[in-house]
Amino acid sequence: EAKNAGRRTHRFFAPAMEAAVQSRRSLKQDLRNAVDAGEFSLVYQPIIALETNEPVAVEALLRWWRAGRGEIPPSVFIPIVEEMGLIGTLGEWVLREACATAAGWPRAITLGVNLSPLQFRKHGFVLDVVNALRHAGLPANRLDLEVTESALLARDVATRVALHELHDLGIRLSLDDFGTGYSSLQSLRSFPFDKIKIDMSFVRDISMDADSAAIIRAVIRLARDLGMKTAAEGVETRAQRDWLARQGCTEGQGYWFSKPISAAELHTLLAQPRRADEPIYPTQALMQ
Ligand code: C2E
Ligand code: MG
Ligand code: MG
Ligand code: MG
Repeated sequence: EAKNAGRRTHRFFAPAMEAAVQSRRSLKQDLRNAVDAGEFSLVYQPIIALETNEPVAVEALLRWWRAGRGEIPPSVFIPIVEEMGLIGTLGEWVLREACATAAGWPRAITLGVNLSPLQFRKHGFVLDVVNALRHAGLPANRLDLEVTESALLARDVATRVALHELHDLGIRLSLDDFGTGYSSLQSLRSFPFDKIKIDMSFVRDISMDADSAAIIRAVIRLARDLGMKTAAEGVETRAQRDWLARQGCTEGQGYWFSKPISAAELHTLLAQPRRADEPIYPTQALMQ
């Protein structure tokens, strides 16, 4: 009986698996060509100081417009790019493109760039970063490299050396998606992070879940005691914004302030003089 069921399942899934393998193969093929085809682009999301309501940083986020298929989210294609061994090449493109864009902003605010932990293991990675900054004419202290926690990050010696070198050059470092990895406190001790980005899964639940609220409060307190800033991700409501500000969280990022927008839209936004007490961002109006 079980054997029969197994056989039936096998027959049923074989074509589906075949199709999955096929589509993965074509996805990889398309990814290989995507840089040359100009299918990658960057969007930019403002990060706001909760005390002043002013943008203090902007995070660059990668987008892939796949010919004939539309937009594929980074959560889907980045792991495949990593697996293919192409993240170094793509990451360098992101860094150069973002630094060049940020150098032209009308305000001297910080540029946040996401890095895959794999990028740190590349020999000469620190030099690549320095060259990107030099080429763009962007001061080192305007670049903030966002790194997520992973086993790799905690154990790899090359990573540790690279992060300290970058920090010594004046480049800022943020621990991204804090709370979702599995060695949070160890990473805080081993690496010279300037900022903790609190994962949006905690922020989403603050009004319904006392535990999430307690965890965020503790993280803010911990960061303050360690001399680090805190940024809350995924702030979508005024209530969340206000609560985070009351707890002393230094920065917020999320649809309440602005969705990720194009380089041109961001430039216009940063060029506008604004009143500090009202966050006037394009998508906030749309969402109300
Ligand atoms: P992340 O670094 O944590 O980036 C924040 C993500 O949250 C972005 O998703 C952003 O669009 C989304 N987000 C911001 N505010 C809100 C909000 O209020 N509500 C909701 N629901 N979402 C919000 P995105 O752009 O899809 O990127 C996903 C992840 O992909 C990033 O998470 C980052 O880990 C990775 N990623 C993006 N660009 C790059 C890149 O250039 N290089 C590398 N290595 N990873 C990247
Ligand atoms: Mg990030
Ligand atoms: Mg994040
Ligand atoms: Mg995240």
